[in-house]
Amino acid sequence: MPQIGIPIERCRFAPTTSGPAHPGTLLAALLCWLDARKRGATLLLRLEDVDSTRCTPQSAQDMRDALSWFGFDWDDECLQSESHDDHATALDELARADRLYRCTCSRSAIRRAGLPAADGGWRYPGTCRDQRLKDGEWRNVDGAVRLRLEPGTTDVRDESGLALLQDPSAQMGDPVLRSRNGSIAYHLACVVDDARAGITRVVRGRDLAPCTAIHRVLQQQLGYRTPIYRHHLLLLEKSGDKFAKLHGAVGWRELRQHYTAARLCGALAGFAGISADSSPQQPSDLVERFDWSRVCSDDVPLHWTGQSLEPSTARG
Ligand SMILES: [Zn+2]
Repeated sequence: MPQIGIPIERCRFAPTTSGPAHPGTLLAALLCWLDARKRGATLLLRLEDVDSTRCTPQSAQDMRDALSWFGFDWDDECLQSESHDDHATALDELARADRLYRCTCSRSAIRRAGLPAADGGWRYPGTCRDQRLKDGEWRNVDGAVRLRLEPGTTDVRDESGLALLQDPSAQMGDPVLRSRNGSIAYHLACVVDDARAGITRVVRGRDLAPCTAIHRVLQQQLGYRTPIYRHHLLLLEKSGDKFAKLHGAVGWRELRQHYTAARLCGALAGFAGISADSSPQQPSDLVERFDWSRVCSDDVPLHWTGQSLEPSTARG
C-alpha cells in the first residue's frame, strides 16, 4: 500500500505490434511486470502501432492474447495510434523552435555515407539540414521530417549503472520524427506518450539504451520530465556467424504448442536469473522474491530446437 504523500510510480510495457510476441517480448514483459508489481507501481500496456503499414487491429489483439495467455494483467491500456493529436502538437512545438527539417535522402544514400551510429545503424550525415520546416509545414511535406540536434553531451541515469552518456548529434545523427509515409517515428511517439501518461519509470531492453540520449533531448526540448530508466538483458539468437536479438525464431502460438504458460514462464525466469531454477511458475509466483540484483546482466543466447528453447554457447 503506497504511503500518503509518496507519489505512485507509473510504469509501462510498450511492445510494437508489428509482429507476434516471441520469447524476447515475453521476457521483457515479465521483467517490466515484476518490477512494477514488486514496487506497487501502476502499469500501463501501450501497444505501439503507429507503423500503419505493419500494424493492424488484429496484430494488436494478437499481442493482448499473448500477454493474457502468459498471465499478465495491466492497470490501464492504450494504443499509440490514438495519440496522433499529441504527436502533432509536439511536432508543432518543435517546428516553432526551428528544430525540424525535411529530408529526402534514401536509406541507401545514408548507408553510402558510411557513418556508423551508436545503435548499430547508420548515422544521418546531415545532408538536408537547410530544408527547414516552419510551423505546420511538416504536415504536408513530401519526405521525412528530421530533428536538428545541437552538438553537446547528454547524460541520463540508468538505474542498473549502464553508461548512457552520449553526444547524440555525433553518435546517432539527426533522428527521423515523422517518416516519409506519414507515420510518427519511434523516438517522438515514445517520448510524447510517456509524458502524456505520466510515466515515471521505464524498464526496457538494452537494445534501446543508445536511444535514451535522444529521448532526453526531446524531453528537454518539449519541457517534459525525464523518467528513471532501467535497461535489461536481451535474449539472443544465432544470426549468420553473430548473435542478434532473438526475434523471428519462434512466435508465441508455436511456443504454446510445446509449453504451458507456467512452463514457459519458469524457463524464461530460469534463463534470466529471475529464479534459481526453471520449474513452472506463474508470473505472480515470482513477485515476492523478485530482485534485480539476481537478474543476469549479460545477454542470454538461446536457440529454438523446434520443440523447446535451449541455451546456446556464445561461441556456438
Ligand atoms: Zn536528407
